[in-house]
Amino acid sequence: MLQRHSGIPPNEPFYMGIAVSCLMGIFHMIRFYSGEGAPTIFCRNSGSGEMGKLELSGFEDITFSMRLSCIGYKSPEGYLPCKNSAINTRQCPTCSALDVSRAYTVGDFSTYPSLYEDAKKEEYSLYLAGFGEDIIKCGLTRKERFLSRMVEQGADFGCIIGSFTGPDEVYSKEAEIQSRFSFSNSVRLAQKLRRLHFDRGAASENFRSAVEMVKTSGALPDFTPEILDLSSHYPRMKAATETDSILGQILGAKGEILLFKSEPGGEYAVNMRKKVGTHFKWEKDK
Ligand SMILES: [Zn+2]
Repeated sequence: MLQRHSGIPPNEPFYMGIAVSCLMGIFHMIRFYSGEGAPTIFCRNSGSGEMGKLELSGFEDITFSMRLSCIGYKSPEGYLPCKNSAINTRQCPTCSALDVSRAYTVGDFSTYPSLYEDAKKEEYSLYLAGFGEDIIKCGLTRKERFLSRMVEQGADFGCIIGSFTGPDEVYSKEAEIQSRFSFSNSVRLAQKLRRLHFDRGAASENFRSAVEMVKTSGALPDFTPEILDLSSHYPRMKAATETDSILGQILGAKGEILLFKSEPGGEYAVNMRKKVGTHFKWEKDK
């Protein structure tokens, strides 16, 4: 029996409690998250507009379409739909300006001044993150989010190099450290895909020297390096072929790269960042 699913109950896998042999639905992908627990797609029912989440596990069958529309924006209260019903864009300029993530990614609190008051009391960490053998990124996050921030971006190594109270100083410090040591500000998913398999010894050595270089430079107040090896958070892969839909056993995710194994045994990777804003068909056998 096939049943079209009308909506997703919030905060639970949306096939729970429904006695049918197969479920399906068309959803609009808002965000992909792989920090803690199962890789999760935050999505809206393309028909009803109801917001929910899909936790990927076991055998999954997801086909992404070419249909693209604005994801809307995240407010402090949650995800809200696009005011313009904009199509052929992941996020329209109106929604991008309203998105609360701007406050945390670029330190622009102009749309949400009340968040700035909270942020002033918040502890921020400046960190280095290593990807494969050769990429070192310098970034910042709220201190309590450090580990999830490392895992959700798929870093192989991470280390806090500075602590700051409030957002005023940390954003300029981040820019200064990036430019002085030629660290990356962001790492493209294509670069991460090419580094699913790498020499762990060489990577660890390279990361350690980057941390040591910052420590001995005096560019930041002295700190005791605690280097995290994050390998246990990701599936072990030799190599994966990039593909555009999901059909097989979910192995896990590394940042926004979803990894699965097909029935004949091939290992595949889907760039989930590229899928944000698209509409997809999800089918699940019970
Ligand atoms: Zn919009």
